Amino acid sequence: MKTFPMFLKMDGRRVVIAGGGEQAAQKARLLCRTEAHLALVAPALDDELAALVDSGRAEHVTGPVTSGTFRGAALVFVASGCPALDAALHALATAAGAPVNVVDRPDLCDAFTPSIVDRDPVVVAIGTEGAAPVLARQIKTRVETMLDPRLGGFAALAGRLRGAVERQVPREGRRAFWRWAFDGAPRQLHQRGAEREAARRLKEAIAAGGAPDAATEGSIALVGAGPGAADLLTLRAVRHLQEADVIFYDRLVDPGVLELARRDAERVFVGKAVGASAWPQDRICEVIVSAARRGRRVVRLKGGDPGIFGRAEEELAAARAAGIAVEIVPGVTAASASAAALGRSLTERNVTDRVVFATATGADGQVVAGLADLARPGTSLALYMAVRQVPAIAAGLRAQGLPGETPVDVVAAATTGAERRIRSTLDRFTAAMDAAGIASPAVILVTVPKAAPAAALPLRRSA
Ligand code: SAH
Repeated sequence: MKTFPMFLKMDGRRVVIAGGGEQAAQKARLLCRTEAHLALVAPALDDELAALVDSGRAEHVTGPVTSGTFRGAALVFVASGCPALDAALHALATAAGAPVNVVDRPDLCDAFTPSIVDRDPVVVAIGTEGAAPVLARQIKTRVETMLDPRLGGFAALAGRLRGAVERQVPREGRRAFWRWAFDGAPRQLHQRGAEREAARRLKEAIAAGGAPDAATEGSIALVGAGPGAADLLTLRAVRHLQEADVIFYDRLVDPGVLELARRDAERVFVGKAVGASAWPQDRICEVIVSAARRGRRVVRLKGGDPGIFGRAEEELAAARAAGIAVEIVPGVTAASASAAALGRSLTERNVTDRVVFATATGADGQVVAGLADLARPGTSLALYMAVRQVPAIAAGLRAQGLPGETPVDVVAAATTGAERRIRSTLDRFTAAMDAAGIASPAVILVTVPKAAPAAALPLRRSA
């Protein structure tokens, strides 16, 4: 290590930024998050910096610059935008004994600014000693996804309760208390926005002299895994995966998604094929409830959005009947992913003003009756579980009087390595799907324009 990471106290310290343009403003933005006193050294300031001075957040230092300008500074940033001037300013600041950072000149830096993940008071700083700033930013992005946005608020709450814990929780129970606080119900509640409830639970436990029994803390989350690509998971879904004790998943979940789970989380495969669950739904309900009853944090991972053709109601009801805390984490549904894969929108001004998500296969495994009735003018119709029903769908839409040139697009395995896309029409999509060998899972998108000329829509003429 040629540099050593430290967190400097900034409260009331003087930080000098030499420069009045965008480079200086970037440093000022960063330092504004601290309680440092900012001194901006430049003949003129851009609008953003001038506003900081107007608001009293920073002081504008004009006039001749000497080493005295930098005396006593905790840090100096040199960012004039002019290399020769930067070098001169660096010499003056160094003469004043201040640690200096010169923008884009690692050779002149005593200190480097890290990439920062800010969950004040929790701060993660990533440095590469100036060797690879882009890499630092990539790492930052990954850390950002690991730390939920409310983490700082929770850490601050914990900080406020530290004294009470020291007084009321016996020494031997304190570690278990904090483990529970950061890993159990309080933090989970806080993450979901239930901040008051989180504080109430913490205070109750402090009053009771320690963390509650682990066996009472089980929970179930129905988590949307999205259409396949792991980077389409929500941050909340990733957090649940990283906190799970056990994950129940089925075939629609891409292996890349499971890689984001906590290493020692148990993984249980409960589904085999679309429409042909290896495990009957009752049994899935039973096992998720019984795992939660044993105090485990259960993630029920479901493809796409759990609330769309995901049998979520049955699992919600089972959890609620057992008095277990249950939560839904929404995901990107297959229709959205499919439209995105086609580079098109599900709605279009003056063309389609409604979207219908429909399953083509009913609970009995047969084609759903009346599907074609949904294909009214102005509709984007997204058909799920439709591959096996293609001939019936095509015949139904034709019988409804939809013109042969009605756009019909098909996307299979959207966002995965096996993705297939077909842009076609009602006349041709059946043959096109056969020719391409399209298999499930796929979404069929039928676009019935609103403003089509009357001649193109016999449906309207005869109606
Ligand atoms: N809850 C899921 C849907 C489950 S039903 C969601 O919100 O997406 C299963 C059907 O979803 C499949 O038959 C198929 O129609 C669709 N589907 C799921 N993943 C898909 C994908 N990656 N590409 C295209 N369709 C998909």
